[in-house]
Amino acid sequence: MPRSTFLIAYVVAIALALGIQWLLGSVSGIVFLALCGLFYLVRHQRHHQQTLKWSAQPTAAPPPDLGSYDEIVTPIYKYVRSRQNEYVALRELTNNVLSAAQALPAAAVTLDKSFQIEWCNAQSQRLLDLLYEKDKGYNIFNIIRLPEFFDYAQSRQWSRPLRTRREIGGQVCSLQFQLTQHSNEGYLLLCQDITQLEKLQTTQRDFVANVSHEIRTPLTVLIGFLETLRDLPHEALTKEQRKQYEELMHEQAQRMLAIVADLLTLSTLESTEIVDGTIVQLAPIIDKAAVQAQSISRESHAFEFSVDPALAVVGQMNELSSAVTNLLTNAVRYTPEGGKITIRWDRNDHGEAIFSVTDTGLGIEKKDIPRITERFYRVDKSRSRASGGTGLGLAITKHIVIRHNAKLVVDSEINKGSTFKIVFPAEAVVYEQRDNSAETAEVAGA
Ligand code: ADP
Repeated sequence: MPRSTFLIAYVVAIALALGIQWLLGSVSGIVFLALCGLFYLVRHQRHHQQTLKWSAQPTAAPPPDLGSYDEIVTPIYKYVRSRQNEYVALRELTNNVLSAAQALPAAAVTLDKSFQIEWCNAQSQRLLDLLYEKDKGYNIFNIIRLPEFFDYAQSRQWSRPLRTRREIGGQVCSLQFQLTQHSNEGYLLLCQDITQLEKLQTTQRDFVANVSHEIRTPLTVLIGFLETLRDLPHEALTKEQRKQYEELMHEQAQRMLAIVADLLTLSTLESTEIVDGTIVQLAPIIDKAAVQAQSISRESHAFEFSVDPALAVVGQMNELSSAVTNLLTNAVRYTPEGGKITIRWDRNDHGEAIFSVTDTGLGIEKKDIPRITERFYRVDKSRSRASGGTGLGLAITKHIVIRHNAKLVVDSEINKGSTFKIVFPAEAVVYEQRDNSAETAEVAGA
């Protein structure tokens, strides 16, 4: 109750008491005043009790009438409410920051100024073997026992990260540590697994070196011939010699062109999105590739075909044509004269469609099989080059196979021969039954 209201009530009560005393006489005025006082005391006591009860839980709204306590309770309640809103917003922010830190693909650890662990996220367990409940409060150097990490932390030269190796789950992984001082109170340690990134960088470096080497070899030969032709007097070479030189130069230029063309194909395969395929009949593609293979063979191999013309797959015609041609020409190039090449296109019991090329050629050692789809990997370098190989054919084929959700399976035995299979998943298979659903033909040295 405001002080002015209280004074007015007080004056009115005295005036009323005086009036009553004048009207009724005796002690009526004093009795009236005593009753007023009692009424005031009871009311005050009730407000006091209500205020006490509210103060136990000041975030709840106070009772509507607390008399003179209203003046105290209302600002306190407003203050408590605003702090509570701030607290809720802060808690939400903290939770968001913590979930973001948990979701980081790196291990994140907060450390105090003496490198004791304050907090760490879930990734820390996998990369650093650190568990928050178990390791909180421990010194980080007792857990990450890498001398190079200790030196890095002590050096305070943290502008560059530290790269090192550590065994994780039985495998040696490359880790990148980065320390930062986040405030006057402590540090943030981030640790990332960069094994894949390093592998990729090495592959890229090797690739550039390989490309340079592959192009440089024919280029050197070409320049050598050009210099000979330029420096020798015209009459020093016979017409035949000159022709032979020109043919060799043409061969080297063709080789470079083939490498560049294959590199472009690879880069297109890597950089383009896989679009929805169309129904591709493989039989005509096989026919076309066989003509090419037979022309390389020059009638020195026997060909056998078992092709189901009703069998088709959903995919990209150009890509499939390139994969089929590559497997067929490889079979010819790595099979000595007189060998046999069998081409099959049919379905297995699981509804998968299988294109296979079997040769009776050189075969591939077990240890080399996983590597032959790597770019520029050749088991026999001289044979590959002599037969016009770029070393990229199977890398391209593997890419195409993956883009068709298919599998490339290689079975081979050294000096006995090889079978290269492309296995298309049943979902990609389209079968249109015709009268003559399978045709078998043997073309000997055709
Ligand atoms: P290349 O242009 O050298 O043939 P590929 O990527 O097509 O490149 O093949 C990679 C390597 O795999 C070849 O150099 C060869 O050593 C081996 N290879 C491929 N196909 C066969 C096969 N049918 N028989 C034996 N070796 C093969």
